[in-house]
Amino acid sequence: MLYEISQRTMELESEGKKIIKLNIGDPDQPTPKEIIEAAFEAMKHGKTKYSFYAGEKTLRTKLASIHNVSAENVIIIPGSKWAFFSIMYLLLKNGGNAVILTPYWTAYEMAAKILGVEIRFLKAEFDSNWKIDIEKLRNLIDQKTRLLILNNPNNPTSKVLENSLLEEIVEVANDKKVTIMSDEVYRDLSFVKTKSTLDFGGSQILVNSFSKTFAMTGWRIGYVVVDKELAGKMMKLNQMTFTNVPVFVQEAALKALELKEKIAGEMKAIYRRRADLACKILSETELKFTKPDAPFYIFPKYANLDSEKFAFDLLDKRVAITPGTSFGDYREHFRIALTMPEEEIKLGLEKICEALE
Ligand code: PMP
Repeated sequence: MLYEISQRTMELESEGKKIIKLNIGDPDQPTPKEIIEAAFEAMKHGKTKYSFYAGEKTLRTKLASIHNVSAENVIIIPGSKWAFFSIMYLLLKNGGNAVILTPYWTAYEMAAKILGVEIRFLKAEFDSNWKIDIEKLRNLIDQKTRLLILNNPNNPTSKVLENSLLEEIVEVANDKKVTIMSDEVYRDLSFVKTKSTLDFGGSQILVNSFSKTFAMTGWRIGYVVVDKELAGKMMKLNQMTFTNVPVFVQEAALKALELKEKIAGEMKAIYRRRADLACKILSETELKFTKPDAPFYIFPKYANLDSEKFAFDLLDKRVAITPGTSFGDYREHFRIALTMPEEEIKLGLEKICEALE
């Protein structure tokens, strides 16, 4: 449904209609100019050729130093979405299942469906403050479970896992010999500090991206931190699919990391203001929601709402949102993305509130 709404929004825009797009996690800010200049400089210096399948040594080394691993553990990929697809393929092509904590980001399920991978869901709910039931997790994992996919901070709730809960999840996974694939693409912009699964021992895969932190969604660059065996397999898969992320894009990413503190600080401040504004407006309504611990999204609930119908009807009022069913069994919820300027968020939310009356 997330992609259907996006498609319909683009169609309406192509007919010349102005839509307030609160439906998609694509930052409205431009990519910082220093990053663009770094790419341009690299292009001018001939960095426009085939290169290493695993990524450039300089970028891998820089990322390795950030995550306290060796450069051989880091693989550069064309956006983090590729990680879910390729790793599910590599770890599950001979059978087995993956457990996904919900609400989840839509692409995990879509990748699993394309690959024919069996998935099992563990549902968290607003009414229990999105808490993950560790006993249920333990029972859901069986002998065939290879992968546990989690997203911290979470899209769509913007909740951050408490360190103690994260530790319990890691313990269960280690006990059951299941690899955790942790999607941490919102961590560098999080309002609340959260640990990475890499801070714990065991079999962990970290997935991260330049898309959100640096407003680089269209550049298509992300990375994974994996063990050396999986790194080797991913490198071969890269070789046979996209070859390498363009070197000038990797040079731009290197510049982004050099400026991370400044850029992430500025981005975070923008999202903080937007989140505060949205929470203020929403708290004057019947909608129930948890205050975001991280940027980008709010995931309100409205009793008895059919969010799919609501999202399509709302497009007639020129506002796009994403129905909760895109993130699992959450029909009464919808997701608002704070990736628009404050005035548009305000206007969009006012229209949403009006439509709910
Ligand atoms: N993970 C999550 C949780 C996301 O929300 C998104 C984008 N919406 C991605 C990964 C994908 O990022 P990328 O652009 O790196 O493929």
